[in-house]
Amino acid sequence: MSISIKARKAAGGHDTPALPLEEARARILSAVEPLNGEETVNLHAALHRVLAEPVAAAIDVPAHTNSAMDGYAMRGEDVSEPGSELTLVGESFAGRPFQARVEPGQCIRIMTGAVVPDGTDTVIMQEQAERDGDSVRFTKAAKTGANVRPAGEYLAAGETALKPGRWLTAADLGVLASVGVPQVKVLRKPRVAFFSTGDELKPVGQTLAPGQIHDSNRYTLFGMLTELGVEIEDMGIVPDQREALDEALQKASKCDAVLSTGGASVGDADFVVEALEKLGNVGFWQVAMKPGRPLAFGKIGQAWFFGLPGNPVSAMVTFLQLVRPALVRLAGATPMLPVQMRLPVTGAIRKKPGRREFQRGRFIQDEKGLSVSPFGHQGSGVLRSMSEADCLINLGPEVGDVAAGEDVMVEAFAQPVWNGA
Ligand code: AMP
Ligand code: MG
Repeated sequence: MSISIKARKAAGGHDTPALPLEEARARILSAVEPLNGEETVNLHAALHRVLAEPVAAAIDVPAHTNSAMDGYAMRGEDVSEPGSELTLVGESFAGRPFQARVEPGQCIRIMTGAVVPDGTDTVIMQEQAERDGDSVRFTKAAKTGANVRPAGEYLAAGETALKPGRWLTAADLGVLASVGVPQVKVLRKPRVAFFSTGDELKPVGQTLAPGQIHDSNRYTLFGMLTELGVEIEDMGIVPDQREALDEALQKASKCDAVLSTGGASVGDADFVVEALEKLGNVGFWQVAMKPGRPLAFGKIGQAWFFGLPGNPVSAMVTFLQLVRPALVRLAGATPMLPVQMRLPVTGAIRKKPGRREFQRGRFIQDEKGLSVSPFGHQGSGVLRSMSEADCLINLGPEVGDVAAGEDVMVEAFAQPVWNGA
C-alpha cells in the first residue's frame, strides 16, 4: 500500500477513497483460494462440509418398483373399463411384500411404498374401488402403469447423486442416506480464529466496572461461523495495545482465516490496521458502506485477515456481505452472493445519496403480498435491530430519501450460502 496506514489515519481515513462494496467483495474473492486437504466423514459430520468427490448411488433409487398410492395393484388391462371386478388374493405393505405372483383376474391390496408384485403393472387408488369380501369392483378404467414408481426411476445404481463442490445441506444428507452411502470424502474445514479488541470489553458473566460493556461480538461471530460449518478458535478479548495485538495476530496467523472486531477505525486506540501492516499485508482498508466502513482485509502468515468494525451491527453486516462469501470459497464451494429482491417499503426512509447504506428490515406478508418494514432504531450499536430483523434493506449510493410504498432492494439473512448453479 503506497500511503502508510498512519498517514491515512492522521488524515481521518479520508485521504484515499473507501472501496465500493462490490469491488471490495471482488478483490476478496479473487484473492482467496480453496483449501487443500480431504477427509472421510460419517453423514452426521458431513453437514455444512464441502463434498470433495462425486458420489455415485450405491443402489437403485427407488430400490424396488413400488406404489405411489394406497389402493389395489393389478394388470392394467384387467380394468380396461369402469365397473371391472377382480378377486382379492393378498396384500403388500411397505417393508412386507406380497410373496407370490398375481394372476390374471386377481388383484392385491397395496400401500404407499410397498413393492408392486410380479404379475401387476398398475395401482388404482382406494377411492376408486369398492370392496365386497374377496371381490373388488373398480369404478373407473385403469391407465396401465399409473401410480407405479419404477425401480431406479430417480437414480440408477452407479449414477452420480451429488457432484463435488457442494456445501452439504440437510437434504443432501438425506440424499446420501437414500442412495446407500454412509460416508463421504469432504474437504478440510477452514480453521477460523477470532478475537475481540477493546479495553472496555468484559466477558459475559463478569460484573461490569464503570465504562465497561459485555463483549457481544464473539457470540454473534461464534453463531455465524458455526452455522457455516468451519472450525472455530475463540481467542478471547485482546486489549487496545499494540504488543497484545501483535501477539494475538502472530498466534492466529497459523489458522486459515482470522477475524477481529474493533480497533479498525481511525481513533487513537485503533491499532489493528497498523499491526496488520507491520506483520502482514493490508489488501485494503475501508469500504464505502454504512454500517461497516472501517473494514480491513489482508493476509498475515498463511491466514486471510478480516478486521471487522467493533460496532455490533457493523460486525454482523460486514460478516454477511464480505466474510461469509470468502469463507465459503475458502471451504471449496462457490459462494452465493446476497440474493436480492425488490419489495415495496412500508414506511419512509431518510438517506443522503453518496454511499451505500444497509438498514435492518422485517418481511411483512399480508393480503397485499410481501413488503419490507424498516426497523425503527437503525444505530450501528443497536444489536436488537439485527435480532428483530430478518433482512437488510440495501440502499445503493445513488439512492436518496425513499417514500412509503416505493420499491427498495432487500436481502434476506437466511439464504443459500453456496451457489450450485
Ligand atoms: P471500535 O470499532 O473499536 O471503535 O468500536 C466501536 C464501538 O463498538 C464502540 O462503542 C465499542 O465499545 C463497541 N464494541 C467494540 N467491540 C465490541 C464487542 N466485542 N462487543 C460489543 N461492542 C463492541
Ligand atoms: Mg475499540
